Amino acid sequence: MKNFNYVGHPSRIFFGSGTIDRLEEEAQNLSMRRVLVITTPGQAEQGEEIAGKLGGIEPLVYPHAAMHTPVEVTETAELFLKEHSIDGLIAIGGGSTTGLAKALAFRTDLPQIIVPTTYAGSEVTPILGETKDSVKQTFSDASVLPETVIYDVDLTLGLPVAMTVASGMNAIAHAVEALYSRDANPILDFMALDGIRALAGALRTIVNDPTDLEARSNALYGAWLCGVCLGSAGMALHHKLCHTLGGSFGLPHAETHSAVLPHAMAYNAPSAPEADARIASVLGSPTAAAGLHQLALDIGAPTSLASYGFAAGDAERAADLALAKPYWNPRALERTKLIVLLENAMAGLAPETIDA
Ligand code: NAD
Repeated sequence: MKNFNYVGHPSRIFFGSGTIDRLEEEAQNLSMRRVLVITTPGQAEQGEEIAGKLGGIEPLVYPHAAMHTPVEVTETAELFLKEHSIDGLIAIGGGSTTGLAKALAFRTDLPQIIVPTTYAGSEVTPILGETKDSVKQTFSDASVLPETVIYDVDLTLGLPVAMTVASGMNAIAHAVEALYSRDANPILDFMALDGIRALAGALRTIVNDPTDLEARSNALYGAWLCGVCLGSAGMALHHKLCHTLGGSFGLPHAETHSAVLPHAMAYNAPSAPEADARIASVLGSPTAAAGLHQLALDIGAPTSLASYGFAAGDAERAADLALAKPYWNPRALERTKLIVLLENAMAGLAPETIDA
């Protein structure tokens, strides 16, 4: 075994069915007296339900979280929480809602309890992405890592199937890139492979029965492991392309991950043969890229960027933007090959091995 470093990010995790009942006790443990319960407008009702579980702790439901964590939204929320002497943050929702809690924690150092309802994984990472003047910038800071995460499977049962499959592929992408990261180590490898295994199996069941509690449990468990991978290993070409497509072309986050992942894997496979073989083995397919593409087809996850308005003529600009400030990647980045990758993802083709 080679030498390796492993950095864990501490947080208290409650996992299972009905774990939301731990909310009041956890809020008390964190000395919360008056809390902001953050949701998007669409999950305001779920926010009210959660607020009803806080017993003697006073909740103010704040249903204004928005996609990509715009700084203006955060600044308005910060004024609101100061006016109302808020001493704790509770977020229920996906990565956008968690993003607002993290952005507020970064500015105020208030403690956070996150109740995830998608598979994005942000709740276990010290990463924050914020958007200002249409530019999304991402940084890592220990102060944004939530103190407590309550994974309550029951709260994910209503996640629509279309979002479930895209969000699940988004989670798998974290694990895939951790496996060929330069930060890869046996602990993360274990989490990444088990995360992919759990999600791939669960998603195939959920598409037929979205309320299957065991499958939903496995999906949320897999998403947690994949989130740990995202928080502990540097991400590579796949995430760079998705951040570029989201930031500069306005493409939706999870869906873009789903469409790009098999192609990014095919690109990197020649330089990451071990990761390729291990992912392929977990997915039961000849190659990782083929297995990821087949999974997306089986569960009806997005495979084509064209569905979101990305056109053939956009591939060159996207490649140039991704190359301007690249992330570390196991394989050298070649403009012409990246354009082919993007065109294939645009058209929803099966991933082709882009030979080294
Ligand atoms: P999202 O949070 O934007 O959610 C999409 C929509 O689904 C929202 O309207 C939300 O309210 C709704 N929703 C969520 N859960 C639901 C449920 N159970 N039932 C019904 N509706 C539900 O989407 P996302 O994919 O979870 O998060 C994407 C954002 O998170 C992006 O901005 C991304 O950059 C960020 N992110 C950050 C990190 C990190 O570590 N910082 C990690 C992953 C994602």
